[in-house]
Amino acid sequence: MRKQIVAGNWKMNTTVSIGAKLINDIIALKNEVPTEVELIVNPPFTHIIPVAEAAKQTTIKVGAQNCSNHTKGAYTGEVSAEMLASIGVSHVILGHSERREYFMEDSKMLLEKVKLTLANQLTPIFCCGERLDEREGNQHFNVVKSQIEEVLFALSASDVKRAVIAYEPVWAIGTGKTASSEQAQEMHLFIRKTLADKFGNDIAQSISILYGGSCKPSNAVELFNQPDVDGGLIGGASLVAEDFIAIAKSFPKSK
Ligand code: PEP
Repeated sequence: MRKQIVAGNWKMNTTVSIGAKLINDIIALKNEVPTEVELIVNPPFTHIIPVAEAAKQTTIKVGAQNCSNHTKGAYTGEVSAEMLASIGVSHVILGHSERREYFMEDSKMLLEKVKLTLANQLTPIFCCGERLDEREGNQHFNVVKSQIEEVLFALSASDVKRAVIAYEPVWAIGTGKTASSEQAQEMHLFIRKTLADKFGNDIAQSISILYGGSCKPSNAVELFNQPDVDGGLIGGASLVAEDFIAIAKSFPKSK
C-alpha cells in the first residue's frame, strides 16, 4: 500500500513565533487524523529547529523547502542537504514551480539537489507540473514527462523508490483554481505509467504521488478519492491548522 501523505508548504510565510503557534495548533488537532496519514510540515529554514523541537514527541515530520545543489563550501547564503539532515529534517521540496521560475532552477540543478538529498538520507518531494499556456497548447503530458525524465530517470531504481512526487499544475498554485479530480487522476496515472515504463510496475506502484494547487478542505475529499492521488502538497491552506488537518482527514476509508 502506498503512503498517504499531506505535506504543508509554508513558503516564505510566518515569523518564528507565528510558526511556533501554527505547529502547536496542528499538534493539538493531530489525533483527529488517521494514523496511516503521514503529516509533513515544511517551514522556512529559520523555523526548522523550533518546529522540529515542538513536533519531536509526535509523528509529524519536518521538511525543508529547498537545499543547495552543492555539498559544502564557498556558496554564501546556501543551506546544504547535510546541514538539513543534521537538524533532523526528513523531506526536502525540490523543483517547485516558484523555484523553477524565479530562481532559474533547471533539471540539471534539480538532479544535483535530488542526489544530495538522497545521499543524506532525506526524502525529496519532487515537484512537476505544466504552465497554463502549456496545458492550453495540449503540451501538459510532454512537459511533465520531460521534467520526470530529466531528473528521476537519472536515478537508480532503488533511489527513485525513495522519492515522493508532487504534481502541481502551475496554473492552480495559489490561484484558487484547482485541477478537477479527473484532470488530477489523468496526470497522476500518466506519471505512474511513465515511471512503470522505466523502472517497472512494482516501483511505480510504490511511489506516492501528491496533488498540489489550491487544495483545500472543500476539494480534498474528491481529489484524494482518485486511485492515483496519494495525498497533497498544500500551500495556502497549510497556514491554517484547522484547514491543514481537515485536508489530512479527507482520504476515503477504503484507501
Ligand atoms: C504549493 O505552492 O505547493 C501549493 C500547492 O500552493 P497552494 O496550495 O497555495 O496553491
